[in-house]
Amino acid sequence: MSFRMDQFMAESAQMGIVEPKERIRQLAALSAGVEVDGNIPIKRYYRSGLEMVRMAHVYLKEDNIDWAYVLYMKFMTLFLEKILSHPEYKTVPADLKQQNQQKIKEVLPVAERLKVKLLEKYTKEYKQFLEDKRQEKERDEKRRREELEKAKALSTVSPSNLPQPSAPPSMLVDAEMLDRVLYPNDFPTDPNRSTGGTGLLLPDTKPSSKPAFDRTLKPSPTSVVAGSLRPVIVPTDTMSRFLQLAAKNTLNNVETCGILAGQLAHNQLVISHVIVPKQKGTSDSCTTMNEEEIFNYQDQMNLITLGWIHTHPSQTAFLSSVDLHTHCSYQMMLEEAIAIVCSPKYQETGFFCLTPSYGLDYISQCRQSGFHPHPKEPPLFMEALHLTLEDKLSIEVVDLR
Ligand SMILES: [Zn+2]
Ligand SMILES: [Zn+2]
Repeated sequence: MSFRMDQFMAESAQMGIVEPKERIRQLAALSAGVEVDGNIPIKRYYRSGLEMVRMAHVYLKEDNIDWAYVLYMKFMTLFLEKILSHPEYKTVPADLKQQNQQKIKEVLPVAERLKVKLLEKYTKEYKQFLEDKRQEKERDEKRRREELEKAKALSTVSPSNLPQPSAPPSMLVDAEMLDRVLYPNDFPTDPNRSTGGTGLLLPDTKPSSKPAFDRTLKPSPTSVVAGSLRPVIVPTDTMSRFLQLAAKNTLNNVETCGILAGQLAHNQLVISHVIVPKQKGTSDSCTTMNEEEIFNYQDQMNLITLGWIHTHPSQTAFLSSVDLHTHCSYQMMLEEAIAIVCSPKYQETGFFCLTPSYGLDYISQCRQSGFHPHPKEPPLFMEALHLTLEDKLSIEVVDLR
């Protein structure tokens, strides 16, 4: 599926023009790339689905209808089709399924309306594109005529100065190049970025090889830069506030963990809450309990899951093999998800994610549990470079213990 889509994208990019209906089809194809991993508990997908719709609503409110459409379609692809292949599908509680059906009913007409709007928008842009191209051709023709006139004039004055035959062909080459350069890659974002910043369940694909250039879409402040992740904003006081709350455990050499949650706004993921659930900790592990409580709180506050934070009371800040597996399911649901590790003993903080090109895939395939060795090279995790600390924001700490 994704191969055919890549090929299709490459072909349409070569042709230079993507017709409005084709663009819609491309968006739909982007949404169809959702994959379900049978090793991730099915409830996580239902959770992620809710957050998908939550993010889509934000995009819609901010008039970023391309991404809103992709997310709504992704949601529907996931729950009308892909989820059925999950081994736990038969065990999903009836009320959860019903709630999900209700959401699909809500989302379906919205997606249909968006499709109509997008078609109008793309048609307008397409017309503008053709018009621009026509004008360019005209200018080009005019210039070519002028060059020819000049050449003719020169040749009548002094035949020995006649331009060599090489001149006209080089002009032709020029014109061809111009044509090639000015064809936009007529798509809202890089098609190779199949995870689309929408964060959802898609395997990472190779980075873009062709430059995205599209004047018609440039003004959109929310369009995602090719191959990049949306920034995650972390209030600077997050770590100190969390450490205060963890102090008693830390003294007893017991780990503490919390969920990082927040909102999407103007294509940034802003962490606003640390939710500390009921949990069982040891000196080198921490297991959350009663996750429903976290979800209920998040639903009340309209929060999406952006990562997690935990302490290493007696070790440095790094991701252990168990941490890597814990983080994998966060990052599979949202590619920007981050892991913060606080080491009060060594006074260091790590801001991590799995390497998108290797670690994410490697860990998702690793079937071992508990502490176990992983190969060190290539690196499985890295410093999260898409993260920014923000002094002006302040974290809200919610202790559910
Ligand atoms: Zn750890
Ligand atoms: Zn492993």
